[in-house]
Amino acid sequence: MSFSDLGLMPELLRAVADKGYDTPSPIQLQAIPAVLSGRDVLAGAQTGTGKTAGFVLPILQLLHADTTHTNSRAPRALVLTPTRELAAQVAESSRNYGKYLQLRTYQIFGGVSINPQMTALRNGCDILVATPGRLLDLAQQRAVDLSKVQVLVLDEADRMLDMGFIPDIRRIIKLLPQKRQNLLFSATYSDDIRGLAERLLHNPLSIQVAARNSPIELVEQRAYRVQKEHKRHLLVHLIQEGKWHQVLIFTRTKHGANRLTQQLESAGIQAAAIHGNKSQGARVKALDMFKRGQVTALVATEVAARGLDIKELPQVVNYELPNVPEDYVHRIGRTGRAGSAGEAISLVSSDESGLLRDIERVLRRAIPTVNTPIFKILDSVPAPAQFQRPSHGASRQGSRGERPDSRRATGSGTGHAGSGGSGGSRHSGGSRHGSAVSRSGSGAGSSGNSGSRGGQTRGRFN
Ligand code: AMP
Repeated sequence: MSFSDLGLMPELLRAVADKGYDTPSPIQLQAIPAVLSGRDVLAGAQTGTGKTAGFVLPILQLLHADTTHTNSRAPRALVLTPTRELAAQVAESSRNYGKYLQLRTYQIFGGVSINPQMTALRNGCDILVATPGRLLDLAQQRAVDLSKVQVLVLDEADRMLDMGFIPDIRRIIKLLPQKRQNLLFSATYSDDIRGLAERLLHNPLSIQVAARNSPIELVEQRAYRVQKEHKRHLLVHLIQEGKWHQVLIFTRTKHGANRLTQQLESAGIQAAAIHGNKSQGARVKALDMFKRGQVTALVATEVAARGLDIKELPQVVNYELPNVPEDYVHRIGRTGRAGSAGEAISLVSSDESGLLRDIERVLRRAIPTVNTPIFKILDSVPAPAQFQRPSHGASRQGSRGERPDSRRATGSGTGHAGSGGSGGSRHSGGSRHGSAVSRSGSGAGSSGNSGSRGGQTRGRFN
């Protein structure tokens, strides 16, 4: 099957060919003809499956062919996304695929000044890609007329639900014409998503991209057992020894993202953070530098990284495991995309053992725990305040297994990872090997159970 078999017009086929795609992905094979025929669609598909083209291409064609269109400046297609990054990416895809057509795409999201958006909306667009909150603000100020919307897309609906956008979405839907086409994309199906789909969609075509084809199958997953306070050192080691050039790293908090970015920079690794406290400009710049290879490590929080489209991302690191197991799937869906192999590496401290088990339950398979390599405890990668020892200034740059440095850094002397059993705030008594041969895994893994007593995050799954 090629794109031309899907009923797409020559201008779109040309744009697709320019991108170098010759075969439609499974979601595209099913979604494109369905959307072209005017049907509602409920699609279970993650980022990385090609879902964006699955709805953008047919929407462009429908709008181009729309003969009822007057010269109204009001958008005729509305795509709602959970994050500004995803909004920007969907809009960029739309402009890209629509470059041989005379259709205008515009994106709006919060976190930036509203006035330029009002001005731009006055000039009109055909496809509007928006985050719900800002769209509602603009609608309430009568800066956007949603009464001409023929196609509504909820992209990453599960994430919008998680982020509490459903009331906003309901309000937005009330501003749309009753008769319209609705497309709902979601990586997961909770009861809430099913409920939303039932209310929103009429006789939808249900598409589930088979797990076999999902990018997760292309991702080589592994976990290292490591003490919390050693994670940054192991990460530096992995990046440097593996000569990684483009790694996306997930932390749980914005503060943690900033701190790790600084620690990586101190170790000589070009790094940038991307999270909700950063201005839109700073986020776009960080992402751009990362995509262009000027930054090796992009440290991101879950929400900020949502929907990031970075091609053929070779490595994704879970510096901290996500609290919600499904987020693991989203995170690692950013690697191994469009047929290229990728690696997803999780650094698991003992207090995260419960989270790891929850993730494995959702995946219905074990994530192999591999031997933690020997790594240096680096002075140049300062410890977070709670682990800093008074003797800090006395240490030298660490070298492999150097005892004094290790001892300083850990309080028990080690360049050793995976000694396990210790929650982050206790020092491990099990790591007295100055020369730091690390065996990960079983020991740490089983003793890790006890570590979950610190696992304040587990309640939800028990
Ligand atoms: P998405 O799931 O929409 O985020 O797309 C994931 C990535 O796959 C993006 O970089 C797309 O540009 C790319 N892509 C989309 N469709 C295809 C295709 N048919 N063949 C190869 N790559 C594709």
